[in-house]
Amino acid sequence: MKRIILLIALGTVLASSILLTDAYAQAQGQAALTDEEILTERMALYLKYEALTQVPWYYLAAVDQFERNVARVRQDIPKRDSFISLYYPKEEWVGLFNPDQDDTDLETIRFFNGLGLDGNGDQRANLSDDEDILYTLAHDLARYGSHKADFRIALWERYKREASVHIVETIADLFRHFNTLDLEEKRFPIPLHYNYSYRSTWGDRRGWGGRRIHEGTDIFAGYGTPVRSVTYGKIVIMGWNDYGGWRVGIRDIYNNYHYYAHLAGFNKELKEGDFVEPGTVIGYVGSSGYGKPGTSGKFPPHLHYGIYKDNGRTEWSFDPYPLLRRVEWEERRNKK
Ligand SMILES: [Zn+2]
Repeated sequence: MKRIILLIALGTVLASSILLTDAYAQAQGQAALTDEEILTERMALYLKYEALTQVPWYYLAAVDQFERNVARVRQDIPKRDSFISLYYPKEEWVGLFNPDQDDTDLETIRFFNGLGLDGNGDQRANLSDDEDILYTLAHDLARYGSHKADFRIALWERYKREASVHIVETIADLFRHFNTLDLEEKRFPIPLHYNYSYRSTWGDRRGWGGRRIHEGTDIFAGYGTPVRSVTYGKIVIMGWNDYGGWRVGIRDIYNNYHYYAHLAGFNKELKEGDFVEPGTVIGYVGSSGYGKPGTSGKFPPHLHYGIYKDNGRTEWSFDPYPLLRRVEWEERRNKK
């Protein structure tokens, strides 16, 4: 019985997504798709290839999301103007010694040990086709098995970088936990009805810990003011460090690491590994840090908020001030 239901579901997914790539091209020619429409189409593709290969949709979605994030901030990776952002270099797709680097022929691609496969059923492995590249990825991941540990091995083979593996796993956890691709919503870290103030302090010189520049924005507020997560995310660090005092590190689905520091204390109901939503209280404004565990009061109470972005090779901090201004403005507008 279960099998029949699965087949019916598969049939429906197949019928609705078979011309997705064309749908994207057509829709872009007429009017731009809304974000919601794009996510709906993308989800249909993931579910279709989960049904065909048994690779969970959130693994396919996480690899695709990670590579979309990377393509956005890297000059050396072409941006795909389509639903799927997976990246295969031409020589990997068609095979290193394949004389035709634009080859789509299944037989010659196989002959030259290329990875390219046919997902959409046109007997061609086309690097510009969403379904062909998604099926190729799903097939590739399925070779290792469908457990979490197998997924990790597949990711290691794909990226050969521990940080990338960790980030993709976290994105997969987030998609799985919230059971949606729509995790873009944001909230200002301080509830708007509290007294607070902040200005752009990017690059200011720091008073403690040597010659480091200030990587973040300081939001000044009274002791005990709630601090909320800006994004959907997973808590990856919660504890003490000598610079940041009691601090929380949260990863989102956009390759960002959000750093909340100098807290007076944490939300006791949360721990490392937990998931948060925009607006979830994670702790309280304090003045901890600049010394051994428990050090406090060396500066006025404030939240230090920083964002670090990973591009698949390295991680760097960027100025969160413009984002904070926008999120604050949008939240005030939505309240009216
Ligand atoms: Zn700061």
